Amino acid sequence: MKQTALFFLEQREGVIRKASLQLWNRLLALSSSEPSFRVVALLAGAANLDACNGRLAAHGELLHVSNELFNRYHPERYAQLIASVADREAATSIFFADTTLSRELSPKLSLMLHASLLSGCTSLERIMQDGAASRALYAGTVQGSFMPLTERHLYTVLASSTLPSAAYSCSPIIHPFPYNEVEMVHDFGMLLKLLTMRQGALDVAEASVVVAGGRGMGSAEAFGMLEELAVLLGGAVGATRQAVDAGWRPHSEQIGQTGKSIAPALYVACGISGSPQHFAGISGAGTIVALNSDPHAPIFSLAHYGLVGDVHQLLPKLIFLLQECLQKK
Ligand SMILES: Cc1cc2nc3c(=O)[nH]c(=O)nc-3n(C[C@H](O)[C@H](O)[C@H](O)COP(=O)(O)OP(=O)(O)OC[C@H]3O[C@@H](n4cnc5c(N)ncnc54)[C@H](O)[C@@H]3O)c2cc1C
Repeated sequence: MKQTALFFLEQREGVIRKASLQLWNRLLALSSSEPSFRVVALLAGAANLDACNGRLAAHGELLHVSNELFNRYHPERYAQLIASVADREAATSIFFADTTLSRELSPKLSLMLHASLLSGCTSLERIMQDGAASRALYAGTVQGSFMPLTERHLYTVLASSTLPSAAYSCSPIIHPFPYNEVEMVHDFGMLLKLLTMRQGALDVAEASVVVAGGRGMGSAEAFGMLEELAVLLGGAVGATRQAVDAGWRPHSEQIGQTGKSIAPALYVACGISGSPQHFAGISGAGTIVALNSDPHAPIFSLAHYGLVGDVHQLLPKLIFLLQECLQKK
């Protein structure tokens, strides 16, 4: 069965990038002796194709999306487009010249397609042989060899690894590629996640108010009270490692030595003992308020205000009083 490689032909300000054209040419030259290998190039945005005419090693297929939305680089839009085309063409590998743009774009695409990314590859020939990527390591003193672990793989290839174009005479066969916005929603689940993230809470590392919970919260459901409190205070929810390990909260909310370091103006610690590992993440906090049933909990040694009691009784009261207070304002 024929294998399809998608090649992203990069343009900037309508001019095809030299490194990109060189790599496409090399891919075409290598694939022309490999009948089971098909190379399809994708060009997004308006560009002057004269640079390609009469200068290719073989008549390369070029899908051209001329919609002006793609004239300028936009990471999400470009990634969605490449993902859609890769799906449509059933491409098993996607190639980029290793440039500043591809270094930003390829990790996004790799996540979107759940595909291995092998960047900074130094030998196109090696990739064509067995899919393995050679990379210079330790400032070029060692050559590493990497095999992709997924069915679909992405490669960014250094321009220095391709020979300058010889005097070729072929031109691309251009297929206009219609842009359809509906197709752009490549991963619906991912989009939903993105939207809920945008609407939802702030990142714990950036919020000026953080309401965090520990093992003393007792359950994932009890964190609902902290979410409510965080909304009232315009802040974010955080958690201790115990709460994260219990599966009550995601790791992105963990505060401390192996989580995030935070520096909010107000930090509210609920059912948190105050271990050194947790303290490590809150040393930059302004005012610290602690709610704990144990009056001897270490957290009280750091807190500016403390409430001794059961969080399940204290928090509903606190939320109620705060709502009243905010309504009066
Ligand atoms: C290498 C290493 C890295 C670590 N990194 C981190 C890290 O990044 N972040 C982190 O947080 N931890 C980290 N830890 C774990 C850390 O040592 C503590 O185990 C953890 O911080 C304790 O979490 P906790 O306060 O939720 O739980 P606990 O220590 O069990 O404390 C629970 C507290 O809740 C109180 N409580 C119980 N019930 C109630 C109630 N109903 N109402 C009110 N209070 C109640 C208790 O009195 C107690 O003080 C790390 C540990 C190691 C070894």
